[in-house]
Amino acid sequence: MSVRVGQGFDVHPYSDDPERPLVLGGVTFDGERGLAGHSDADAVAHAVTDALLGAAGLGDIGQHFPDTDPALAGADSLDLLRRAVASVHAAGWIPGNVDCTVVLDAPKLAPRRAEVERALTDAVGAPVTVKGKRPEGLGALGRGEGIACFAVALVTEDRA
Ligand SMILES: [Zn+2]
Repeated sequence: MSVRVGQGFDVHPYSDDPERPLVLGGVTFDGERGLAGHSDADAVAHAVTDALLGAAGLGDIGQHFPDTDPALAGADSLDLLRRAVASVHAAGWIPGNVDCTVVLDAPKLAPRRAEVERALTDAVGAPVTVKGKRPEGLGALGRGEGIACFAVALVTEDRA
């Protein structure tokens, strides 16, 4: 059986627009400052998408969902993730699991971690685990200028 891994990384700065919601892993964090980006700027969903596309040898999220595409303005990134998973299956691969580390100073991820994991697991159709990591005051992330996410995905060959 053939097994492959893929890595994903994404980072978005905070938005100046007070109306913009914060969406992480498809979950909206009410009352928190949103991230800037063409879509809903869900850095967690984007990193997971890139990890899965990379594992299946399908390039990256920018190729599949260009940030110059007007149709993707404000897009639901969990929906883009579902579409990427369909491409992974079409290429003959089955997601095994995805593990993520979200680097952020605020908000605290722990209280909503199970919810984020559930939303991502539903979208991927395989276990997605999420860990929060504080940047300890270092660099742009430590100054609370944005949120980053790392993800690793495993896929197995679809032999059916
Ligand atoms: Zn992104």
